[in-house]
Amino acid sequence: MFVYSGAIHIHSKYSDGSLEPDEIGNIANEAGLDYIVLTDHNTLNALHFGYEKFYGKTLLIVGSEINDLENKNHYLVLGVDRLVGTFKDIGNNEFGNELPASKYVKELHDLGAVGFIAHPFEKRTQFPQHPQFPWTCWESDYFDGIEIWNHMSEWMEGLTESNKFNRLIHPLKSVVAPDTEAVKKWDELNLRRKVSAIGSIDAHSHKQNVLGFFTLDIFPYKVLFKSIRTNVLLDEKIDPDNQESFKESKQNIIKALKEGRSYIVNNYYGDAKGFRFFAEYKGEFYNIGEDFQIKDEKRDKVILKCFVPKQAKIKLIKNGNCIHETESTSGVWNYEGPGNYRIECWLADKAWIFSNNIRITTKNK
Ligand SMILES: [Zn+2]
Ligand SMILES: [Zn+2]
Repeated sequence: MFVYSGAIHIHSKYSDGSLEPDEIGNIANEAGLDYIVLTDHNTLNALHFGYEKFYGKTLLIVGSEINDLENKNHYLVLGVDRLVGTFKDIGNNEFGNELPASKYVKELHDLGAVGFIAHPFEKRTQFPQHPQFPWTCWESDYFDGIEIWNHMSEWMEGLTESNKFNRLIHPLKSVVAPDTEAVKKWDELNLRRKVSAIGSIDAHSHKQNVLGFFTLDIFPYKVLFKSIRTNVLLDEKIDPDNQESFKESKQNIIKALKEGRSYIVNNYYGDAKGFRFFAEYKGEFYNIGEDFQIKDEKRDKVILKCFVPKQAKIKLIKNGNCIHETESTSGVWNYEGPGNYRIECWLADKAWIFSNNIRITTKNK
């Protein structure tokens, strides 16, 4: 198994970002990222102009972030070479899809896209020039996952008149943990069907008159590449020296994101490529994002194991509830009935690693 570290949800000049895709790819390579996912608003132009490839050791994948005519229901799609519906000008240099979200989610699913709900519970209301863009279309059931941690949303939500300068100077320190509501919703959804989680940066690198006083490059890509990442677990190696192999590696990464063979990490608090969480059952190992069924619930033994690259508060979560907590570099637990098991690692009050689930079922459940 190979672990690859990526930054998801990035805007380039093809929408409201400030650099060309290849410039972003090169910065990501310098930052040591294995992959990045570009998601310009309502367009796949970066794909059609041939920017999807390796930049040094970084694979740049092109997806898109779609929104409706009210600029709500932002949806990240990967793995398609065309979008659905038509886009209309909704003012302020922004566009929206004429289809309601339930339709574009379903139609993109039918096209073979892998889709993630972006910043579902965004709550920023303090600056009218930066409105919130929440998800309102929970009746749709064709999405694959949700973004439970979005650097930009969390940073903006916590912004006040009194802390704004501090936050601008320390953009990485002010990010604490995945959105509580999004995590709760994610756990609830998983009781019914598999829904994977991703973490993202939502990078624009705006040169903006942010707070009415001065123009500043808020969050250069380089800075954000040190923040929230989604590390994927692949069976196959990525080979950046073979430019031809990018399509296959792209498919493998997208598949891992869809299946939740991944964990989210705030890289600012340490590289987490050594993190492991797996279940051991009848001599087989089941990793994050995998499902398996127990044959004889009374007799069969399942052990859950976790290894963390440095000491952290490790929480074992089952169906959304913390069932064990330890301050350590590892954890070993006995299975406690069918359900979804995942790990959270915290460094004091800062979230560091959030894994996707291992789903354990029995014949009845
Ligand atoms: Zn958005
Ligand atoms: Zn965005």
